[in-house]
Amino acid sequence: MTTTPQFAVIGAGPLGSTTARYLAEAGASVVLIGPGDPGDVIDPSKPWGGWSDESRMFHAVDLPLASAILAKRSRARFADIEERSGVRFTTANPSLTVSGMVKSDRTSGIEIDTHFDIATLMNNATDVGIDVQRIEPDELARRHPNLRFNEGHFALHHADGLVLNPRRFVEAQQVLAERAGAERILDHVTSIEDDAEGVTVGLAGGGQVRAEQIVLAAGAHINLDGLLPRRLETMVLGITIALFEVDEGTEFFPTLMYADVSSPHPYSGLIVPPLRYPDGKLYLKFAGTGGLRIITSKKEATEWLAAGGDTEGAENMIHALRQLMPDLTVHSTVTRPCLATMNHANTPYIGHVVDRIVVLTEGDHGVTVGDEAGRLAADLALTGIWRDSLPARLFTPRFA
Ligand SMILES: Cc1cc2nc3c(=O)[nH]c(=O)nc-3n(C[C@H](O)[C@H](O)[C@H](O)COP(=O)(O)OP(=O)(O)OC[C@H]3O[C@@H](n4cnc5c(N)ncnc54)[C@H](O)[C@@H]3O)c2cc1C
Repeated sequence: MTTTPQFAVIGAGPLGSTTARYLAEAGASVVLIGPGDPGDVIDPSKPWGGWSDESRMFHAVDLPLASAILAKRSRARFADIEERSGVRFTTANPSLTVSGMVKSDRTSGIEIDTHFDIATLMNNATDVGIDVQRIEPDELARRHPNLRFNEGHFALHHADGLVLNPRRFVEAQQVLAERAGAERILDHVTSIEDDAEGVTVGLAGGGQVRAEQIVLAAGAHINLDGLLPRRLETMVLGITIALFEVDEGTEFFPTLMYADVSSPHPYSGLIVPPLRYPDGKLYLKFAGTGGLRIITSKKEATEWLAAGGDTEGAENMIHALRQLMPDLTVHSTVTRPCLATMNHANTPYIGHVVDRIVVLTEGDHGVTVGDEAGRLAADLALTGIWRDSLPARLFTPRFA
């Protein structure tokens, strides 16, 4: 390894891998430190990530406006990254945001999640120049006879939607980072010490890495493992993914953000149409409320992962599936745990925490905005100044 690389990037998930690519492609010496893809193996001795999965939705408009701008910039580069890396991570698929709620709907008593506030989403679409269409209940039923939405549900249709494969996204970024000279360490960091000349990080496998600067992109583990002297102001969420094994030829449908809060088993979250998983089977995926928990300690995170998430909560997803697709044949159901983070603004944190340490985290839309968030973090680390037209304060890390 280069004696003292200019940069050590900690965390080899979507955000860390992208940052390492931009740094290496800018000619800097970089080492990328973090475990590889754990596959389906839950090993609590290694830090867990939010990307070890086959699908993520490209959130084009159902996120805060600043993030919608990052998403648009990221998407503009996907084809180039796929072509240069030879790794495909995008699948074209229309998306539908389906909700029965409008901002003034006070009856449900549930605060409307930004993902489902159709009026705001339409404004976002106008602001970032994305074509979407509002679909009224009758038209929704006519277009999707295989999906049983609740009475009064309407939708926002994005014809030019995408499903992203986070594993392939990480692979593509790392292929290009290593081609540009980045070095890779398959280990995790247990300590970080900065001084006037540089930063020393301790590795779980023994040994240390000394770098001039670091970018910390270790997701939920930034707080869970106390990697910074102060905790970030962000929530760690345990999310349960439910995978439903279905038949070949199961009718396809748009990627759904679906909220059904009036049901006795309320559900709101992501529904991804059938995709092939590494075990060769075809799974339809739910990820959202029903099986969601705020995680307050490393111990709770370890228990959450070891338990495979909240299998009881997954009942809500099974119920929502039965409601939505009563004729669907499900052969088996698998639940998986996942860790995400969410801060006050639900936009990425990109900023210096001390002179030689830049933090980069985005726990809710990281695969969507990751390429641009990684570019911004790399540029900040390389130049020491925020040079983008979006104001830095939108992304400044906050501490608890
Ligand atoms: C169920 C679920 C559904 C989601 N759906 C979507 C979606 O549809 N669209 C979307 O855009 N996003 C979605 N997300 C969010 C997205 O997955 C995250 O925003 C993204 O994975 C964050 O990337 P990251 O690199 O910051 O963190 P992570 O993906 O968590 O990766 C962090 C990496 O750092 C490593 N690490 C941790 N500690 C250390 C250490 N001490 N030393 C070295 N390495 C370390 C971990 O092992 C991991 O590999 C979803 C997340 C979940 C959980």
